[in-house]
Amino acid sequence: MKILCVLYDNPKKGMPKKYPLSKLPVIKKYPNGQTLPTPKGRDFKPGTLLGSVSGELGLRKFLEKNGHELVVTSDKDGKGCRADRELRDADIVISQPFWPYYLTREKMESAPNLKFAITAGIGSDHVDLQAAMDHNIDVYEVTYCNSRSVAEHIVMMIISLVRDYHNQHAIVNRGGWNIADAVHRSYDVEGMHVGTVAAGRIGLDALRKMKPFDVHLHYFDKHRLPKSVEKELNLRFHSSVESLVKVCDVVTINCPLHPETENLFDKKMISKMKKGAYIVNTARGKICNKQAIAAALKSGQLSGYAGDVWFPQPAPNDHIWRKMPHHGMTPHTSGTSLSAQTRYADGVREILECIFSRKQVRKEYTIVRNGELAGTGKHSYTKGNATGGSKEAAKYKRR
Ligand code: NDP
Repeated sequence: MKILCVLYDNPKKGMPKKYPLSKLPVIKKYPNGQTLPTPKGRDFKPGTLLGSVSGELGLRKFLEKNGHELVVTSDKDGKGCRADRELRDADIVISQPFWPYYLTREKMESAPNLKFAITAGIGSDHVDLQAAMDHNIDVYEVTYCNSRSVAEHIVMMIISLVRDYHNQHAIVNRGGWNIADAVHRSYDVEGMHVGTVAAGRIGLDALRKMKPFDVHLHYFDKHRLPKSVEKELNLRFHSSVESLVKVCDVVTINCPLHPETENLFDKKMISKMKKGAYIVNTARGKICNKQAIAAALKSGQLSGYAGDVWFPQPAPNDHIWRKMPHHGMTPHTSGTSLSAQTRYADGVREILECIFSRKQVRKEYTIVRNGELAGTGKHSYTKGNATGGSKEAAKYKRR
């Protein structure tokens, strides 16, 4: 088979020769009891850079030994890009949410052999899921591989926004020491109302991680959590997003991007939020309307916005979120720490081993199967397509 793997660029100075840590902590299970990926083998050192082009997700030896062809590229956007050319006779495409290869209907239709789309991470919205269903292309992702990594990032972003860390850090970098400038927007999170839109693997973990800060916790989700969890976290359920945003000082967004959630935080929804609230969105950029967010930060309706997800990705150099006031944005990094890379590289290999030996891929890794949403996909997504507008990614110029 021909496997096309689209990964982000190598570090500008080349692949690292050494890493800060020589070993990763050992984790055997996720909090719900799900096991970590269990491939039959591994051809890389855990904790190394696997998500960039030369890291190749540690797959080359395994694939070539089994007679398959592996093509790895980061050239994924714009007319005539290498990924589009290689896709035409590919059987499997592997891509990452951090550097998404937007697999639109048009691209699928240019690839008659394509049978599988694998996400090295979580969130398969860069694939036109409706087109995948129509063309019988199975879609898999490595559920849970980086959910807890993202939850850590959310906590970091909530605390840094509310305390106004970015401003304070910038003052130090400029050689300054004006304490009043550093604290005039700085608060404690203690006592605040913090709510999540979606309490899945990430949302629930973020709530658990915020609990020790002595905040009041809220959530909205399509399915209610068990009573025991609500009790354990003293958690208030809201039956609508509107009800949650009305009372929360901090809102974190943790639902997948699908037709139901695209543009959920538009001007109207933001106007219903508590004045001066903060948003942390590590789910997907398209869930928030970019103009509405920037305008709300300017007017003071929002005090801060942080996240690592943009639309499209890479974000064009002039994306309005790069320059808006009071933001704490990073590139899409929360789910691709070196720790997470090891897990998703293992997960991709596990999925490939199943495909090659015609074994069923785990239900929890399944998004689309046999032309239908299935497994995790059936639970968390709705039918449709969220890739519209992705061509804009070609506007990004490497710096
Ligand atoms: P889960 O599948 O565990 O959780 C998703 C949750 O979203 C489910 O509880 C689901 O509800 C809920 N949901 C779905 N649609 C809606 C809706 N319309 N309104 C409210 N809730 C909804 O996934 P994870 O928590 O692991 O990941 C969530 C998302 O985070 C991913 O889809 C991805 O987009 C993003 N992500 C970002 C990463 C990053 O690096 N920034 C890395 C990993 C993920 P239910 O199941 O109850 O129907």
